[in-house]
Amino acid sequence: MSRPFEGRIALVTGASRGIGRAVALALARAGAHVVALARTQGALEELDDAIRAEGGEATLAPCDVRDFPALDLLGAAIFERWGKLDIFIGNAGVLGPVSPLAHVEPKQWEDVLAVNVTANWRLIRSLDPLLRAADAGRVVLISSGAGHRADYKPYWGPYAISKAAVDALARTYAAETVNVSAVKVMAVNPGPLRTHMRAKAMPGEDPTILRTPEELAPKLLALCAQDWPETGKLYDFPTDRLLSFQAPR
Ligand code: NAP
Repeated sequence: MSRPFEGRIALVTGASRGIGRAVALALARAGAHVVALARTQGALEELDDAIRAEGGEATLAPCDVRDFPALDLLGAAIFERWGKLDIFIGNAGVLGPVSPLAHVEPKQWEDVLAVNVTANWRLIRSLDPLLRAADAGRVVLISSGAGHRADYKPYWGPYAISKAAVDALARTYAAETVNVSAVKVMAVNPGPLRTHMRAKAMPGEDPTILRTPEELAPKLLALCAQDWPETGKLYDFPTDRLLSFQAPR
């Protein structure tokens, strides 16, 4: 079996299920050592078993991404053990309340912004020297069409606002690393995929009509490859296109 990611270290947040689990497995199959982060320890252990059954390697990081000091410690631990990080997949996310902005509770708002945005910034802050120390550091932040639609939907405020911020985070970090490092930073719109989050968002939908995280995973691996040339762009899975961000007309 081809193992193009042999020797590479990859942190995947939200690795316990859905998109994160699928990309963690695919990276491990391709030879990467996966650092798998999520809150649900049992699901991480099950992922570890699946990775080891195929001859891969993982390190489990059971952690809540809202525990920001723990994210700092994770960066320090990765530095101690490997001195670099090749791949950071910022995938952990929550939908939050689907309700009018005026009905959103402050705690709900804070949680969505903490998980979807601040945790990714705290991880970039903690991991930046490690990504620059890698010979081809790759960052993939999982965004959503909800963040950059021309016609914003009512009631999806906290989620859409958080994902617009994720796009801005990816573009800003790309602008800060381009030309002065080998780091490449991409945002990704997965489109509707058959996961727990999608079922929560669209309870009446037949999940069998949706594509699966396993179908997206090879595309995410392409964005992490050493020869991936682009930075600061959005990969749109539904149309299989790279999009440049455009100012509103
Ligand atoms: P999912 O099945 O609900 O998985 C979400 C993952 O995030 C889980 O592994 C969960 O792990 C983790 N997570 C949530 N809160 C966390 C916290 N506080 N600390 C640590 N980990 C946390 O959802 P998914 O569909 O795979 O979503 C993955 C990403 O894709 C999200 O950023 C989502 O916004 C984005 N996305 C999904 C779709 C879609 O249709 N599925 C479309 C567009 C964008 P634990 O619960 O174990 O902590």
